[in-house]
Amino acid sequence: MPVVRRFHGPIDLHTHSSVSDGTETPAQLMRAAAAAGLGTVALTDHDSTAGWAEATTVARAEGLTLIPGMEFSTRVDYSSVHLLAYLFDPTDAGIVGETARIRSARLTRAEQMVQRIGFDYALTWDDVLAQTTPDATVGRPHIADALVARGHAITRSDAFAGILHWKAGYYQPHYAPDPLRAIELVRAAGGVPVIAHPATRGVADVVPEARLARLKDAGLFGLELRHRENQPEATARLAGLAEKYGLFVTGSSDYHGTGKPNRLGENTTTDEVLERLIEQGRGHAPIYG
Ligand code: AMP
Ligand code: FE
Ligand code: FE
Ligand code: ZN
Repeated sequence: MPVVRRFHGPIDLHTHSSVSDGTETPAQLMRAAAAAGLGTVALTDHDSTAGWAEATTVARAEGLTLIPGMEFSTRVDYSSVHLLAYLFDPTDAGIVGETARIRSARLTRAEQMVQRIGFDYALTWDDVLAQTTPDATVGRPHIADALVARGHAITRSDAFAGILHWKAGYYQPHYAPDPLRAIELVRAAGGVPVIAHPATRGVADVVPEARLARLKDAGLFGLELRHRENQPEATARLAGLAEKYGLFVTGSSDYHGTGKPNRLGENTTTDEVLERLIEQGRGHAPIYG
């Protein structure tokens, strides 16, 4: 029996609000998604589900299907690997504990980076706090916004290419679990895990075939191969591995409001893949607006 599809396209499965490093509130983001003509959108703030409730209310009002999600910070050596997680139980103790630990580590790390930048540029921790909403997942984008406000950079991207680049010497990593552990946590909470932008420099290098096979065995659902930051050669190689290991391919914008050039709906996911994803999601239902 075919499942009756209750969602509509276009489908964009990766967006950020001011709960992490997007520039729009969850409500504004849902309205922007509807205005951009999307039928289905996932809210995937970094290491936080705090935007789900507000997004749910507005998605319903706008007639959008909302897939509640999160972008889970994970790490392999010094490379940061992002794991998209969908339809998990946001009250699951494993997820709640691990994301609280990551957010706290991010805060300490951001304060230390700002202290080091502050030796060379006029920049204080209060400048960064002025760029975040209360309880937001703090990241380099907020430091970037503070650098822009102080006139040390022109845009977020400019700050990332300069002062925030690891080559500038102020960069510091933060605690994050191994991707294998994060996949286990997401599945244990009834969720569906997808590696975000896996063909970007850094990520592709630390996810060779043997690791990908282990992640698939642990419950990995798919790879976000349609994303503007993926590199063509690594994308082609990973598309071959997705086929070989039965991983689904998704596409999304990774919209951050005015914080990044990425536009809503610039990459999308097919109805068939979303249907499989919804079938596997057991921790939280989609919101059908
Ligand atoms: P962090 O996790 O604190 O190290 O910061 C990484 C975040 O910065 C990513 O989630 C991106 O959203 C953002 N980011 C990375 N590079 C850029 C860029 N060139 N311009 C704007 N935002 C960026
Ligand atoms: Fe981000
Ligand atoms: Fe990411
Ligand atoms: Zn993202």
